[in-house]
Amino acid sequence: MDYISTRGLSPGAGFSDAVMTGMGQDGGLLLPASIPEVGDRLNAWQNLSYVDLASDLMSLYTDIPSADLRRLVDESCATFRDPEVTPVKRVGDVWILELFHGPTLAFKDVALQFLGRLFEHLLKERGELLNIVAATSGDTGSAAIHGVRGRPGMRIFVMHPQGRVSALQERQMTSVLDSNVFNVAVRGTFDDCQRILKTLLGDPAYRKQHSLGAVNSINWARVLAQMVYYFYSGLRVMKQTGAKTVSFAVPTGNFGDILSGYFAARMGLPVSRLVLATNENDILDRFLTTGIYSLGQVSATLSPSMDIQVASNFERYLYYLVRRDSGLLRSLMDAFERRGSMELPGGYGEPGGGIFVSGSARRDETLRTIKRFMEQHDYLLDPHTAVGVAVGERHVGAEPMICLATAHPAKFPDAIREAVGRDLAHHPILDGLSGLPTRCDTLPADANAVREYVAARTECP
Ligand SMILES: *Cc1c(COP(=O)(O)O)cnc(C)c1O
Repeated sequence: MDYISTRGLSPGAGFSDAVMTGMGQDGGLLLPASIPEVGDRLNAWQNLSYVDLASDLMSLYTDIPSADLRRLVDESCATFRDPEVTPVKRVGDVWILELFHGPTLAFKDVALQFLGRLFEHLLKERGELLNIVAATSGDTGSAAIHGVRGRPGMRIFVMHPQGRVSALQERQMTSVLDSNVFNVAVRGTFDDCQRILKTLLGDPAYRKQHSLGAVNSINWARVLAQMVYYFYSGLRVMKQTGAKTVSFAVPTGNFGDILSGYFAARMGLPVSRLVLATNENDILDRFLTTGIYSLGQVSATLSPSMDIQVASNFERYLYYLVRRDSGLLRSLMDAFERRGSMELPGGYGEPGGGIFVSGSARRDETLRTIKRFMEQHDYLLDPHTAVGVAVGERHVGAEPMICLATAHPAKFPDAIREAVGRDLAHHPILDGLSGLPTRCDTLPADANAVREYVAARTECP
């Protein structure tokens, strides 16, 4: 499979380059040159295990020998604590797709356990080393650290804003003592961390000298790995219920998770609706209802992993919306970068008319949904999942509604306590963190300080 850039000014790349570079040289995002059709495989796929399905599906997009790919998938899935990897359960009027059985109890493990192993495989083949730099406000950093820890050929440097990530999330990162993991607490905000990251990655000479790379949500391998659970759960629920189609409700921040659902539908999984659910940070909901993509203020909510204004994967969807017209896409993205706002010209489908519907659930509704599910179904939703469920319930039709559960509730004990009035959310992994030794360095919110810190610790050929 060849990969092309949304902005149309970079030469095509193979799978391995697409994964290792993360983005197009023209600043665009990489997409497969065509989307494989799998309608005639669905009957066979319905009976496959998660590992078999994942290997079959991902082989359509990669040039990795199938035995190698299967091993990478098998090893990634073995880190999940449920034999089904991503089990799906009937709860009340909806189905809950549990994506939180990985090492850090969040859905990002599905992609990052695979990505860490994929990097290791590709680096070995290419005879290269990689030093990953990342900035996190919580979930991503910890899932990335757990995907990369102990793997030869790579190191990872993760910045978090000192004292501004939850105590649990901080311990999930800093208790990892592997020698290839470096936690950096930056004396500043998450925005400072992101600015520093941009400075480091945006310096081609420094980047090349230190073999720097990224693991952010625009990496194509993450989108690819996430497609699997749409097929896995959709096919299982259709088989169990006899339904001919399903819908999915997806709590959304960077548009990564739901983009995988969009691909699953384009490949031929019978999907009626993709319900895009946001919290108070509703730029994507506004776009899907009005066709106007315009920046607002980021507000802090109960679902912090969705507190995002600019959705980094949105450009991929926009590319298909403008019918692959890279020139038009460049002018829209350019307008957005200059003015913080852009409008899809008339005649370009979706908003309103396509597979997506959207909605936003605010603080009160999120808390009420958690409480109601606990009382009526004895099932505890994490606040991100609750946003998806609340919006998903508005769109329940004849077909089953599968709600993606993106984190284990024990990761967000304060929201749970507020919703149900008790300390119900526990998980042995998180409870066990409190006594563990930790390692973390503290640096000022200064790009030069971080630059020197990283340079002194990178592994170079
Ligand atoms: C990252 C994250 C999301 C949002 O996923 P996107 O791919 O950014 O849309 C939702 N819930 C949880 C728990 C997350 O960690």
